Amino acid sequence: MTSQSVSGPMRVLVTGGSGLIGKAIEQVVMKDGEKREGEQWIFLSSKDANLVDLEQTRAVFEKHRPTHVIHLAAKVGGLYLHMRENLYFLRDNLRINDNVLQTAHEMGVTKVVSCLSSCIFPDKTTYPIDETMIHNGPPHESNYGYSHAKRMIDVQNRAYFGQYGHRYTAVIPTNVFGPHDNFNEDEGHVLTAIMNKTYKAKRDNTTLNVWGSGKPLRQFIFSMDIGRLMVWVLREYDEVNPIILSVGEEDEVSIQEAVEMIAEALEFKGQIHYDTSMSDGQLKKTANNAKLTRYLPDFTFTPLREGIKLTCDWFVKNYDHART
Ligand code: NAP
Ligand code: GDP
Repeated sequence: MTSQSVSGPMRVLVTGGSGLIGKAIEQVVMKDGEKREGEQWIFLSSKDANLVDLEQTRAVFEKHRPTHVIHLAAKVGGLYLHMRENLYFLRDNLRINDNVLQTAHEMGVTKVVSCLSSCIFPDKTTYPIDETMIHNGPPHESNYGYSHAKRMIDVQNRAYFGQYGHRYTAVIPTNVFGPHDNFNEDEGHVLTAIMNKTYKAKRDNTTLNVWGSGKPLRQFIFSMDIGRLMVWVLREYDEVNPIILSVGEEDEVSIQEAVEMIAEALEFKGQIHYDTSMSDGQLKKTANNAKLTRYLPDFTFTPLREGIKLTCDWFVKNYDHART
């Protein structure tokens, strides 16, 4: 069954609607014209319901009675927060995901699109990694809690299909960044943590401290591109198997290259120090986006330098109320 076969317009509940990706989807739908006539879109934050709690999850689903769900809500953080809190990443995310998926099932939701991540891929593997390889071996030890919880979404989606025929699916974004991200220096993901550190190093005329060697490789995708792609997945993608949402392998860059783009965007001319006493995390997790490009051969990604500039400009303009 496709979303098109639902009678009447969709009522879409977006869990995690106040976060980085949720805000991008909101922009695409509510401001860039993706919303269709009669559709309703509801963007939730943790203030509307703590989805770790089953009763609160049920209550918020009862209140909005969605036909479709984009499930983004999760405990999310950068490498160093994962290393400190693997247990919380595992337990919170297992509970949130089971509460959301099971409540969606019980309330007859037609389609759920959840979010996995390329950091859940096996640590020891061949490259590039594709959608068929998610479960082929243990994830990197730095974020095994989050990774195992996320992998279970894929298992659960297949089980809902097997027993009930539901088309619940998941996307696998690589490293996402953009406006409304968490810019916290200790807990955020690399680009936004470095943007904040660079902003302060320029302001205070100090050295910029980057953690690790700068050598690991990443595929970064701008949040607005993820927003557009997730709306396409909700409307058009009919598989239960997940799909990687990423720029190509040729667009993979080192952390050092990305740091230099941030320094350029923020016009930082001071010293950059790489603290090699800090973990590098996974050296690479190169993902293959061939499945996506087969479906959408003409999709154009925002170039990394442009996305970084847009995000730095947003951060500077919104410094007083950005998440830091
Ligand atoms: P984010 O900016 O940290 O936003 C997280 C969202 O989840 C917020 O809306 C937050 O609500 C909500 N949330 C957290 N705990 C909750 C709880 N207990 N109950 C209800 N809501 C809760 O994260 P994001 O980067 O947008 O990530 C969205 C999804 O994409 C996640 O599933 C994440 O795993 C996945 N993903 C992210 C990346 C990345 O690089 N960022 C890459 C791959 C996959 P509040 O605003 O109220 O706190
Ligand atoms: P990952 O892609 O899942 O590993 O998560 P991150 O977005 O946290 O990126 C981690 C990579 O960026 C590692 O190679 C870190 O060594 C490097 N890195 C350098 N400086 C920072 C920083 O200030 N914060 C974070 N989170 N990572 C940093």
